[in-house]
Amino acid sequence: MSLTRKRVLVTGGAGFLGSHLCERLVASGDDVLCVDNYFTGRKDNVAHLLGNPRFETLRHDVTFPLYVEMDEIYNLACPASPVHYQFDPVQTAKTSVIGAINMLGLAKRTHARVLQASTSEVYGDPVVHPQTEDYRGNVNPLGPRACYDEGKRCAETLFFDYHRQHATRIKVVRIFNTYGPRMHPKDGRVVSNFIVQALQGEDITLFGDGMQTRAFCFVDDLVRGLMRMMETGDDVTGPINLGNPVEMPVRHLAETVLAMTGSRSRIVFRPLPQDDPMQRCPDISKAKQILDWTPAVDLKTGLSRTIAYFDRLLAEHGGRAPTYTAPTPMATAI
Ligand code: NAD
Ligand code: UDP
Repeated sequence: MSLTRKRVLVTGGAGFLGSHLCERLVASGDDVLCVDNYFTGRKDNVAHLLGNPRFETLRHDVTFPLYVEMDEIYNLACPASPVHYQFDPVQTAKTSVIGAINMLGLAKRTHARVLQASTSEVYGDPVVHPQTEDYRGNVNPLGPRACYDEGKRCAETLFFDYHRQHATRIKVVRIFNTYGPRMHPKDGRVVSNFIVQALQGEDITLFGDGMQTRAFCFVDDLVRGLMRMMETGDDVTGPINLGNPVEMPVRHLAETVLAMTGSRSRIVFRPLPQDDPMQRCPDISKAKQILDWTPAVDLKTGLSRTIAYFDRLLAEHGGRAPTYTAPTPMATAI
């Protein structure tokens, strides 16, 4: 047995990104503890890892303190889809803020490195484009997205205050729209929505005129970026943007999904949600320079893997998106 094996905590480890990260960490030989309250995550996402002696799970809510011994902490716990984080906005803010305090406290006590999964939402509806890390953003602190945006901004503040005040070894990455297998089929984010709608022959719901832009990163690339960030020296705190800088109107995504699935679904227009950012694209110069990281998976390749995943999932459930039961009020919403 290696004496240098790391003990790695992944909060939100049963979620979309977290489950891929757990998988990669276990494969690289680390001892991984996946902590999740299954609010939007699913046991199915990590079921294939359960037989591995290097992997364990713990049902736990990060808004409560956690006492474990760790070398590295990836703090991913937080619902990421607007539909889900707005379902219980107070809990979303608590998860971001109190969850950050608890994970920082754990890192301080155990001298672990701690990485915060922050978000492009800290830039709000940006007027600087593409977004560089020094841009301070344009967030509406009172709107329906604020529980998430301001929660994540406050978490970043806490990370840097723990770093300055307690020399905590922090890493902050700002993740831009990421997609791939294991997204929740009813999670409400645009890629999963469009694919599931197309595969089921349902209307494709385009919000606004569809000319708002996003840039989509495949999950494998993103997870590689997270691990690269964790490997950096203690002088590298971030924030560093992680995302795929190929920007497109959301309408283009709808048309691409329709073409790739061969679906006869119609595009229908729905009102643009309040405070929906009109443009978003990462400047990844820092990630390139500091992490030697660039995304490798193009949109069509990533979409075809994601479509294949949802195709299988729907086939297993008789062509309908499965409803999942979770032990929280969320169960009724998804
Ligand atoms: P997800 O909803 O699939 O995963 C979040 C996980 O956190 C779920 O398993 C959920 O059950 C768990 N969780 C939520 N609240 C919790 C709590 N209080 N205690 C313990 N566990 C809790 O979302 P994701 O896309 O995998 O996002 C993971 C992280 O990455 C989030 O912090 C999100 O803000 C960040 N992020 C993701 C994206 C993206 O495009 N996927 C973009 C920006 C930031
Ligand atoms: N969107 C859409 N139809 C949907 C879901 C989302 O047109 O069914 C749009 C949404 O208004 C936003 C973009 O797609 O402009 C990305 O939305 P998502 O919820 O995936 O993430 P966001 O980047 O807004 O956090």
